[in-house]
Amino acid sequence: MCDYCIRHGAGGKWYLNAAHYSEEVVAKYNLREFLLEQYLNFEQIPVRRIGGFSPVGMDYAFRMPIIGRVVKMMAERMLHSRKGPANPFRPDGHIGQVVPLEDAEEILRHCAAEPIIEKNCMCRYMTRGVKEACCINFGVMSEIIDKLPRFVPEKEKYHLSRDEAIARFREHNSKGYIGTIWFGPFPYINNLCSCETPECAGLRPRVDFGIKSIYKAEYLIEFNEASCLGCGNCVAACTFGALSWDKVTGRPVVDHEGCYGCGVCRHTCATRALYLLPRDRSPALAGKY
Ligand code: SF4
Ligand code: SF4
Ligand code: SF4
Repeated sequence: MCDYCIRHGAGGKWYLNAAHYSEEVVAKYNLREFLLEQYLNFEQIPVRRIGGFSPVGMDYAFRMPIIGRVVKMMAERMLHSRKGPANPFRPDGHIGQVVPLEDAEEILRHCAAEPIIEKNCMCRYMTRGVKEACCINFGVMSEIIDKLPRFVPEKEKYHLSRDEAIARFREHNSKGYIGTIWFGPFPYINNLCSCETPECAGLRPRVDFGIKSIYKAEYLIEFNEASCLGCGNCVAACTFGALSWDKVTGRPVVDHEGCYGCGVCRHTCATRALYLLPRDRSPALAGKY
């Protein structure tokens, strides 16, 4: 478990602590008003323009050695501050974590506050101009999106039952989209997303610039060589480059250090040779997120 789970997980994973989805948190931080204001102006919010959180526009700063180092340091300090959320606009600690299908199902089945909706992904829209319904929202976040028609999908079903939300998440996950769970803002959890890189504004600072904007999952991929057919499908499926191909053995090689534990490579394996192992069972990678 990460430091966050120890402080905020009530003995388990932080995102399976029902308190983070509760109306008490919404009322305590006045999140109805706060979130409505944020999402009314989502495309303009300054957090996308500072600290390199924008998937577009800040690259130049990161590529300049001195400015890049300063920006990165500021972003890390802001993200991993232990100060209380006096201003909920600033993230307090990590802002999200990769989750595999199994944990996403548990969130949707037992934790997510109703109503549950699926809205258009704004990261894809802002970077590619594509409206794709794949962000599952809960509770007060769903109420707010009801008031903002540009987020509401035109074709797909919008209000979902728990079973429908699970089915949608499975569909995205089997396409190779990365499951992610987000604070919005800390300590309220309201987004279960299905992301791609480099479009995702939360994943990109981590993947491209090494800022821990999001934590890797509580798991690592493991590989059972005896069951492998050597088809190579899984290597192409890993968006993080954690699987490579060994031409000599004709089998994939796992870079555990580079694995985010998303589990999506498993969907491409006909023989179930790939499986997830809890991160804390790996002596070398326990506690490294
Ligand atoms: S976090 Fe992921 S699914 Fe959500 S808006 Fe960004 S890319 Fe889309
Ligand atoms: S190897 Fe790791 S990071 Fe890559 S798809 Fe599989 S679980 Fe995800
Ligand atoms: S998808 Fe499965 S069978 Fe194919 S190379 Fe990967 S582990 Fe082996």
